[in-house]
Amino acid sequence: MQFDRFIPKRIKVDVSNFNLNSSNEEEEDDIILSGNLPFINNGKKVARTEAFKQLMLKAFNVTYTSVLGYGEKIVKSPFSSHWPVIGRKKPTLSNPELALDLPGMGDMDVMTYRHIIGWGKTGHLAVIFDGSLHIRDENDNVVCGVGSNLSSCLRWDPSGKRIAVRKARNQIHVLNVQKHEFEMQFSCICVHCTVNVIEISQNGLIITGCSKGQIVITKSEYQVVNKKKINGKILDLKLSCKNKFLAAVTYTNVMIFAFSSLEEVMKLPCATNLSTSVDWHPWKDFILAKGEMNKQITVYNINTKTIIENTIVKPYFRNASILDCLSFCPLSAELLVSFYCEFKRKPGGLTILTVFKDLNTQLDEIEYQSGRVPHIIWNSTGTKAGVLDTGENLLIWNFFGPRKDETDDILKVKKQMMVPVASF
Ligand SMILES: [Zn+2]
Repeated sequence: MQFDRFIPKRIKVDVSNFNLNSSNEEEEDDIILSGNLPFINNGKKVARTEAFKQLMLKAFNVTYTSVLGYGEKIVKSPFSSHWPVIGRKKPTLSNPELALDLPGMGDMDVMTYRHIIGWGKTGHLAVIFDGSLHIRDENDNVVCGVGSNLSSCLRWDPSGKRIAVRKARNQIHVLNVQKHEFEMQFSCICVHCTVNVIEISQNGLIITGCSKGQIVITKSEYQVVNKKKINGKILDLKLSCKNKFLAAVTYTNVMIFAFSSLEEVMKLPCATNLSTSVDWHPWKDFILAKGEMNKQITVYNINTKTIIENTIVKPYFRNASILDCLSFCPLSAELLVSFYCEFKRKPGGLTILTVFKDLNTQLDEIEYQSGRVPHIIWNSTGTKAGVLDTGENLLIWNFFGPRKDETDDILKVKKQMMVPVASF
């Protein structure tokens, strides 16, 4: 008998305990819709598969490089440098610590404007419900409900002692949370506009952005510090960590201004003309990430006006339809991205939250069946992430798992990284 090559005989084995991905999309949809697997950690799935592969390679005494790889070829970014980050060594996300039902948060404004929910430095969550400002503690107890005819546009000041909210179309009211009193009110300088976003600087200046493209920096009821008119409705305003820059997002551009002179520094075009998500690096004042709905993320160095990374990002396994939000973890600078994945043959879809170390490296991921996630908020230490979806759920995740020593380790590394160096 002659053999021209050796083909191992396939043996039917029971692989049910290996918990690997099924290739049948419809079958997977059925599993998820049945509610048996509400939260799946894909990062752990990848880690288990890799551990199993290493075990098999060792058992057969095969070196890694001699084994053919299957699957997609990973295209590495042409940019060699990345942002400063303390990436987790293994996946830690599991079920959310807390799930809050927030009725009335599912309308279209939730998808468009970025300032409808806030998590203050003192640990309080703020939302507008039925025209009133509701402030809750982390255990979902309502601390206070004040005001009337308020709209879902709010911002905590950095100390967590005051919160600014919109009343009617373009009035801003500032509440002293400790006294439960509104202590200041003013309107946008233009007529018949709608204030959509509010930002507050570390020194207490209130920055508003309205439907007519007017940015106004206000110090007190009678003192406007500066103003700037730009083209298009303002969808988001975000100050960099040390308040050096202000990013203003419209449908077509992200404008970067020096703060508080409002001199234009850079104009970043948006490819999709749809809602764009931006976030500043938590301790490098000049690094900005911009994510678009087509899943393209660009990371900029605003000081040098250069691109650090630019790529179409993806979750571990799924072919996500949309990217809705990105946010740097304030503690580790890992980039948390919310994707939405529509089912082809059924209504509804999957929410996917992926943690990136750089734009080509996923470190952790959770998927579950819910709506789109346009809002990611953090507690003051950056150890808990709150994600608000269009299904009116606010899920709060222990971002580094339940073990406190892991958080302490990250803090130690972060302190070392924050020592000024020439690069970055
Ligand atoms: Zn205005």
